[in-house]
Amino acid sequence: MQRYRLNLYNTIQSTTIRSLHNMTNFNKNPYGINDHNSKKEYDEYITKTLIQNEENLNSLTHPGCKPQLKYEGINPIPDAKPTTDKVFFFDIDNCLYPRSTKIHDVMQEYIHDYFVRTLSITDDEAYKLHQDYYKTYGLAIQGLVKFHKIDALEYNRKVDDALPLQNILKPDLKLRQLILDLKKTGKIDRLWLFTNAYKNHAKRVISLLGIGDLFDGLTYCDYSETSLICKPMESSFEKAMKEANVSNPQNCYFVDDSNSNIETSIKLGFKKNILLLETDDDLVKRKVEGSIIIKNILELRDVVPELFQ
Ligand SMILES: [Mg+2]
Repeated sequence: MQRYRLNLYNTIQSTTIRSLHNMTNFNKNPYGINDHNSKKEYDEYITKTLIQNEENLNSLTHPGCKPQLKYEGINPIPDAKPTTDKVFFFDIDNCLYPRSTKIHDVMQEYIHDYFVRTLSITDDEAYKLHQDYYKTYGLAIQGLVKFHKIDALEYNRKVDDALPLQNILKPDLKLRQLILDLKKTGKIDRLWLFTNAYKNHAKRVISLLGIGDLFDGLTYCDYSETSLICKPMESSFEKAMKEANVSNPQNCYFVDDSNSNIETSIKLGFKKNILLLETDDDLVKRKVEGSIIIKNILELRDVVPELFQ
C-alpha cells in the first residue's frame, strides 16, 4: 500500500504544483472559476457550466460523438472466449489526448476551488490539504470522503463534469483512423477503456475526440462505492480484466501515461506495456524497465505493427 501511495505521489507533475501556487492570485486564473467569492456564486457558476457542457454534448454531430459502449454493464460478454480473446486496454486522460493540452492543470484548479468553497477554507489551507491527500491517498477525493464526509459523486459533478473540455478537446481524425485501422485487422477482440475517472468524464472525452463509437467497453473508478478501486492497484487491473472478460494477461495490451500503472501491468504479466511519455524530461525521470515508450498515441502503429497488419 505504501508503494502505491508513493507511486501516485510521484505522478504529480511539477506543472500542477506551479499551477496550484499561481492560483493564490485569482485574477490570473484564465478559467475564471475562482472569481466567484461566495459559495452561492460558486454553486451558480458550476450549475451554469454543467448546463453548458451538457448542451454542448447534445449538440455534437461529428462522427464518434455519441458513446456506444457495447458491453457496458454486461458480464459475461456474449460469445467471449476469456482464455484466448485479446483485449487492448486504453487509458484516457493524458493518453488519448496529450498532456500538453493542460487539462490536468485545469482539473487541479477545479479541485482547489472545490476545497475552498465546500470546506470553507482559505487558499493556503486548501493547497496544503490537497497536497496532503494526494500524498496519502493518491486521489484528493479519498481524503475528502474519509475526513469530510463528502459525497464523491457530488465532487465529481463539480470537478470533472464541470470542466470546460469542449473548449480544449476537438475531434481527432488521426486518432480515429488509428483505432479504426486497429479494429479492421481483427487481431484484437475487444478495445477497452480503463480510467481512474468516473464514467461521465470518460464518455465526454471520447465523444469530444470523436472516438465514442469505437470501443467495446469501459472500466472506470466507481465513485459511488465507499472504497475506491483505482489504478495502479492490482485489484483495479483484475476488475478491468474481469469486466473485459479476458483471463490470460498474455492476451492483454495496455497503454497509459502513468509509470506506476505500467509497473503494475508489467508485474501482472501483460503482453505489451506501452508507456506514453510526452516529453524528454519524462523520459529521463519516469521510464519503466520492460515498457515500450511512445511520445504520442499515434505511435502505436510503430510499436505494435503486428496488430495493424
Ligand atoms: Mg492518464
